[in-house]
Amino acid sequence: MRITDIRSLLHHPARLTLIEVHTDAGIVGLGSTGSPPGMIEPIIDDPSDGLRQFVVGQDPTEPVELWYQMMERWPAQRGRADRGGLQANAMGAIDMAVWDIAGKARGLPVHQLLGGARVDRVLAYGSASTMYYAASKKSTETERERRLRHKSPEEVARECTTLREQGFKAVKFGWGNDFEDEGMAKLAAAREALGPDTRLSVDFGCPAYFDPEWTTMEAIDAAHKLEEYDVYFFEEALHPLDVHGFAELTAATSLNIATGESLTTTEEFDRFIEQNALDIVQPDAAQMGITQTFEVAHEAEHAGIMCVPHGPWTVFTVTCHTQILSVAGLEPMIEYPALVSYRGEGLVTQRATAMSNYEIVETPPELVDGHVVLPQGPGLGLGNLVPEAVERYQALMEEAAG
Ligand SMILES: [Mg+2]
Repeated sequence: MRITDIRSLLHHPARLTLIEVHTDAGIVGLGSTGSPPGMIEPIIDDPSDGLRQFVVGQDPTEPVELWYQMMERWPAQRGRADRGGLQANAMGAIDMAVWDIAGKARGLPVHQLLGGARVDRVLAYGSASTMYYAASKKSTETERERRLRHKSPEEVARECTTLREQGFKAVKFGWGNDFEDEGMAKLAAAREALGPDTRLSVDFGCPAYFDPEWTTMEAIDAAHKLEEYDVYFFEEALHPLDVHGFAELTAATSLNIATGESLTTTEEFDRFIEQNALDIVQPDAAQMGITQTFEVAHEAEHAGIMCVPHGPWTVFTVTCHTQILSVAGLEPMIEYPALVSYRGEGLVTQRATAMSNYEIVETPPELVDGHVVLPQGPGLGLGNLVPEAVERYQALMEEAAG
């Protein structure tokens, strides 16, 4: 079997790229990356050096082999010393589609190609919206106002109650750098509403770690405050490439320290794993494809580090992560959108709703009792795209962009 074409289904101003990889056997694979099509399409479509030039004609039934072909032999990627970025995103989307094809061709689900599932469902944590991002102390008052999004402790508690009622046994809130009295009151409210048996995690996130005044010492202080509320993991408390800072933070707190959503190659994860700089790695198949995400989960497991992939938004990431974590990874748990926490007319809400449209594929995975049920259909188990839903999605993105 040979690859005959790569088609991009969404276009600017969509926030994710969605592709179909076609074959001469008529089998179509689906792939996606979190980078926008305006950036990814040229990497695939360039008439002389694009990925299409390299990938069309290749055999899609050996996905790992094709991944290394792209990484090491595609001329535009050679000589980049295993650096990833947008090129890795584009290769990752193709890799995802190639795994889908390989499974469909053999009539087997991806988890079986990866070595066989140990579980038939994977715990999902409800990923709730940012409560509050404090702007840099250097920014102007107007900027601060624009960036502050308050929720009261009562609102936070209500969301937690709803999420519990929906069956979630684990919840994460985007937090920012709000660790003063007000932030702690919200955290206490969340912990109380969730009860002692529901995992509660906190995501610091990039708008906060980009504050030039934020230091490792402050991250350690914040972690010590979070310890009192039995926080399960503390995500991205430092700059994503700060291996040394993460190692210090991990050694200084009993919390599980997590990061990885910004990384695009296994080599970048290796630096964290080799230095025992984390308790949890968070690779994202929408950043780095299935081959690499599986490798990271596998390596982390051998090092005694947990893998809780990043990527709440799309049916593609949720499915890939369920497939991967059913085979590899300690205490598997994946990120799942908690739409109850997105309210109002804002752009974030529109995007969250649009991206979480699971009707975009014929057979999306089910969420039952706080777990994603492992798809048993061939390939990713999603079937094909639903063209009307793809069009609706594109229209929603255009509406959201105004
Ligand atoms: Mg995050």
